[in-house]
Amino acid sequence: MKAPAKSSGLSSHAASTATDVTSGSGTDLFGLLLEHGHEQISLYHDPASGYRGIIAIHDTRLGPALGGTRFWKYHDDREALVDALRLSRGMTYKAAVAGLNLGGGKSVIIGDNKTIRREPIFRAHGRHVESLGGRYITAEDVGTSTADMEFIRAETEHVTGLLGKSGDPSPVTAYGVYRGMKACAQVRYGSDSLSGKRVVVQGCGHVGYSLCKLLFEEGATLFVADIDPVRVKTAVQDFKAVALTDEEVYRQAADIFAPCALGAVINDTTLPQFKVDIVAGAANNQLAENRHGQLVEARGILYAPDYVINGGGLINVNAELHGWSLERARNKAGEIYETILQVFDIAKTERIPSYQAADRLAEQRIAMVASVRQNFV
Ligand code: NAD
Repeated sequence: MKAPAKSSGLSSHAASTATDVTSGSGTDLFGLLLEHGHEQISLYHDPASGYRGIIAIHDTRLGPALGGTRFWKYHDDREALVDALRLSRGMTYKAAVAGLNLGGGKSVIIGDNKTIRREPIFRAHGRHVESLGGRYITAEDVGTSTADMEFIRAETEHVTGLLGKSGDPSPVTAYGVYRGMKACAQVRYGSDSLSGKRVVVQGCGHVGYSLCKLLFEEGATLFVADIDPVRVKTAVQDFKAVALTDEEVYRQAADIFAPCALGAVINDTTLPQFKVDIVAGAANNQLAENRHGQLVEARGILYAPDYVINGGGLINVNAELHGWSLERARNKAGEIYETILQVFDIAKTERIPSYQAADRLAEQRIAMVASVRQNFV
């Protein structure tokens, strides 16, 4: 079984080469770590509960490694390890471009995520997290829930996304996407006003609905699609949106396409259909393959790298860790505007696609902060 690509806001497709952490022979574990600069892998087995978990820490130069716990029935242990390595590296890049003092980590629990024996599994995972002494902080991801986080919390403080804390990250994510979209408009049209712009929003769920609201308030004309007809109806009623079918969503003539549902929406089938100037949305892993990051630009379309523009979810988690107010989290997510401008600036100067420029920006920030921290204080 292949690990899922779509997931919560804590996931990331950051770092263009992060998906190829698959080379190295079966036994060359340090080769796997060296290949993309990972710091640590921790394996933990608790025979009594049947817990088998892997925590991958990619980089802690900016701060403790943060990333969710994925609970998945992997085909084999190596697939689980590779997934943890790939996802943890993505988190390093996502946190770095979001301007947070967090590193990148991820954990996977191997097993059936429908199990009802959750307390022993997640308490064992909590002990695993605790054993790393704060080098790794966990949160929800595919196959886990806030109730599971409570079990982890019984064993360690190094967990976020608890009930009654920072809550649903979607409004902060949507605000970051909105600000990133405005930055794209600035680059493309010379003005960041979205008034009168035609925006196609695919997916009117948590993020998509909040995004539609912000766009409607600014005077954009909305086109919406969702596999859930109730969500479409709500957006049509609340924001005077025009409903699109699944087939129409990629070929609707508009200014901006905002994918807020699925990953891999920029692919060989959709690219020739696009009649938009900008792709800017919340979905994770929007490029089916890295080459689509080049192809989308060859079609004259400005692409806002997904892990930069959807960083509001991670900013919200960071807010919970540091006791920030919603206002402060929202303000930080608003800075995605400037970050997107920087990404396009690097892309232009270095003549590289925007998805690679995003990686460059992340690497620059990590190197800069690491250098500053070398000083003796
Ligand atoms: P959600 O589940 O609330 O909403 C997704 C919506 O997409 C649902 O309404 C669903 O019916 C719809 N959908 C599913 N398949 C579709 C299809 N084929 N065509 C059209 N619509 C379809 O999820 P969300 O929290 O709003 O997240 C949306 C996307 O943004 C996801 O890719 C998620 O990983 C990413 N993301 C979310 C956050 C966050 O804070 N929630 C943060 C970063 C990234």
